[in-house]
Amino acid sequence: MSRGPEGHRAKKNFGQNFLHDRTVIDNIVRAIDPRPGERIVEIGPGRGALSFALLKRIDALTAIEIDRDLIPWLKQQDARINIVESDVLKVDFSALAESLGGPIRLVGNLPYNISSPILFHALDHAPVIRDMHFMLQKEVVERMAAGHGNKDYGRLTVMLQSVFAISHLFNVPPGAFTPSPKVDSAIVRLAPLAAGALPAFDEARLEQIVRAAFSMRRKTLRNTLKGVVDEAELVAQGIDPNDRAEQLSVLDFVRLAAGTP
Ligand code: SAM
Repeated sequence: MSRGPEGHRAKKNFGQNFLHDRTVIDNIVRAIDPRPGERIVEIGPGRGALSFALLKRIDALTAIEIDRDLIPWLKQQDARINIVESDVLKVDFSALAESLGGPIRLVGNLPYNISSPILFHALDHAPVIRDMHFMLQKEVVERMAAGHGNKDYGRLTVMLQSVFAISHLFNVPPGAFTPSPKVDSAIVRLAPLAAGALPAFDEARLEQIVRAAFSMRRKTLRNTLKGVVDEAELVAQGIDPNDRAEQLSVLDFVRLAAGTP
């Protein structure tokens, strides 16, 4: 694995934990299964652990990196990396996809300090995303993939599962990184749900309902959804107003947002 530019030290504020375990890197690339011609966009190439492995299978890679100390070095290592020097949260994925010529595949060993904002940012651009493969804190992956009735099930789960099918692929121990994070990690795949898998719904309305429902997890829906969804509508949808948010399935939430029983 690459040591990066001379004298570069991992920056905590950029969530820098560099992958060095060759087997883990190979397993991630195998899970992504990149094909020549695909528009692959990596978030946070860092010292290139994933980037160079991907470039063995594809002929070009777009990579979004915030750490300016890494950018000239990355460009020097492989001219096929097209670097977007930016905070990923400021990158308009829809415009990026258009400039690349079509839907993109997002990949990355994400900076854990901003993983949820990155996921919500991707959600905002879901129509141009073909799929996503991310390394995240294992606990976050468990929240993303949780089923209803589970303590990990929450706003992140419902919002993501209303758009993507989520697969927790495999776990990665702290020792695979330098420096080692204090937590276990996992690789997750997000693929858009098939058309018609859920009824059509209004995204802003879903966001409003889900935010309110999970604002106080221990309270009943009668309380948390007061002023947001009428109790009569809950009943019409077959939902018990005495239930709590975590008892509703993603389909229940989507039906509420769609307003159709
Ligand atoms: N891909 C490399 C690897 O697997 O070894 C590095 C992964 S490291 C966990 C996260 C990377 O994201 C770092 O390169 C870091 O500089 C970059 N990063 C952190 N915050 C970022 C942001 N807001 N926008 C873009 N990149 C960011």
